Amino acid sequence: MQNQWDDQEVDGLEHDLLAMRVYSSQLLGRETGLVLHGGGNTSVKSTEVNYFGESEELLYVKGSGWDLDTIERPGFAPVKMDTLLKLAELETLTDVDMVRLQRAAMTDPNAPNPSVEAILHAIIPYTFVDHTHADAVVALSNTEEGEARIKALYGNRVLIIPYIMPGFILARAIFERSRNVNWQELDAIILLNHGVFTFADTAKDSYDRMIDIVSVAEDYLYDTTNLQFCDSSSISLSKIVSGIDKGDIASTALPLMDIAKARKAVSDLKGLPMLVMTSRSTSVNQFARLENCAELISRGPLTPDHVIRTKPTGVFLQEPVTAVIDSFARNYQQYFDHNSSDDVQCLDLAPRWGIIPKVGSVAFGRSLKDVKIIADIIDHTLQAILIAEELGGWMPISEADIFDMEYWELEQAKLKKGSASLEFQGKIALVTGAASGIGRACVDELLAKGAVVAALDNSPTLEGLFTTPSVISICCDVTDAIDLADAVEETVAVFGGLDLMVSNAGYFPNGDSIETLKEESWDKSLSLNLTSHKNLLTSAIPFLKQGIDPAIVIIGSKNVPAPGPGAAAYSVAKAGLTQLCRVAAMELGEFGIRVNVVHPNAVFDTAVWTERVLKSRAEQYGLSVQAYKTNNLLKQEVSSKDVASLVCTVLGDSFKMTTGAQVPIDGGNDRVI
Ligand code: ZN
Repeated sequence: MQNQWDDQEVDGLEHDLLAMRVYSSQLLGRETGLVLHGGGNTSVKSTEVNYFGESEELLYVKGSGWDLDTIERPGFAPVKMDTLLKLAELETLTDVDMVRLQRAAMTDPNAPNPSVEAILHAIIPYTFVDHTHADAVVALSNTEEGEARIKALYGNRVLIIPYIMPGFILARAIFERSRNVNWQELDAIILLNHGVFTFADTAKDSYDRMIDIVSVAEDYLYDTTNLQFCDSSSISLSKIVSGIDKGDIASTALPLMDIAKARKAVSDLKGLPMLVMTSRSTSVNQFARLENCAELISRGPLTPDHVIRTKPTGVFLQEPVTAVIDSFARNYQQYFDHNSSDDVQCLDLAPRWGIIPKVGSVAFGRSLKDVKIIADIIDHTLQAILIAEELGGWMPISEADIFDMEYWELEQAKLKKGSASLEFQGKIALVTGAASGIGRACVDELLAKGAVVAALDNSPTLEGLFTTPSVISICCDVTDAIDLADAVEETVAVFGGLDLMVSNAGYFPNGDSIETLKEESWDKSLSLNLTSHKNLLTSAIPFLKQGIDPAIVIIGSKNVPAPGPGAAAYSVAKAGLTQLCRVAAMELGEFGIRVNVVHPNAVFDTAVWTERVLKSRAEQYGLSVQAYKTNNLLKQEVSSKDVASLVCTVLGDSFKMTTGAQVPIDGGNDRVI
């Protein structure tokens, strides 16, 4: 592991203890082999003069809700040292009381909740304390001979603590052990199956010790197994593990329908829509080819705190996937029944990740952030398992210990608080004609309601239009059926399925009379305004059948109920499209897929309405452009945003009992009424 310390970055800050604390915490946090997403914690002890002129010793310890890689000064909670040391002497204390008493001992009521490992930091008699869940050390520890190997490797320079659940009892155990410890002789404390503490009077020394302790473990693993951890962004695991043919490691196609079915089954168990992230990195692919990988993923997590996000085990997604997920749910219920006591509330039965045999891994989460965290944790876990297997066998903590962590009272308390989510949180949408007008407004509205969106358009302006990771922009010519099918598959590959679809791409030809209408203009209108929508339905329906409350909105036109002269190619295509939608509603009702048409009129902030078209249409009706724009009963101009808002309402729960309907959005039109 590279030591990233750079004296120049902290030049002149040496006496600002908290600044030094922030600097080295971020160095630790950026190293994914040390901590992942909120894991680990750090502290610094500082003597300060309070408001009354009294000197008091404080522990600035990482607050909950902060990640080490991005932590800043406000991320550290100042807690009175004397209270923490008194707490360490108590015989017993519940973790809920510990959290409350730690919070009451803070000198800044606006600071975040101190880490649950704060007492442990207070006990260690050094200014700087660093705690990580280093992959290499934990992987070494999670093996048959883990403790013996660690003893042999580090000798007396580390204090080894057998696995104890984090929280008060761990602090208490270390407090007891540390009474007869000569701290001068120690470089670190290794908590078996959990992580490492290092400490020193300067930030640099404590950081250096952490890198050194971890490097010793990494070197040992490499020398013994020829394997090493790699960042998940690179190819992961530099070597091919034994028993796997290098020739097998090739890009394997994702079984998209199985992924969509798995997402549906997992979402049903969770009771909420989930997103999927797949990985086919080299290490994950190697893992998925192991003979015993189904059994290996049933043994337990890399470090106990991962269980909150990953559940104790993964699911082995072989055919038929829905039966396999049902079986996971039954096993989880059994695990709960076997380990639980009276007043504990069972969590949902849905898996959070799985292995697709010979292909890779899948992670399930409520949001892109959740699912990325789980995917990262799984990537590191699978590397650790591969290495531990080469060392003689992967052996994480016991089922009872895993259960205690998963059902820790502090975690249960968080559950009871619950959390509100947006209407389309976890839902996957696809919008065509997304680069402008109604399509673009629909993407924005779907995002605002929490969906992730595949935005399709063939306009070059699509690129760079949506900068959030919640949107994938797919350059696609909707009149090309293969292009469309690829775009639908890409959506499923990236997000895991398809729930909501806005078939919007359209085109308004010149206002020619039938007498002068050119055949190519007629053909183009039918191709774009009608056939492309049919092709989209054909490609999307198999996936929508696996969707969560799936719904389709097709953008029609006022021209359907109230055609105008000079728009034959457009009106005929849109009328056909409406009929297509009515048939689709009939065919898809039994699968729970709703199909409705929205008929906008006179939406002028769209690409269809060029100045020229606008002027020509106004003339057809003998109106000025301005009068034409507000030529409706409400005398209001209808915007793309208005249409998008209606589209999302029709896609949403308010319309859950409506299919095959046509809803106008035209400011009121006497010909339609
Ligand atoms: Zn920890």
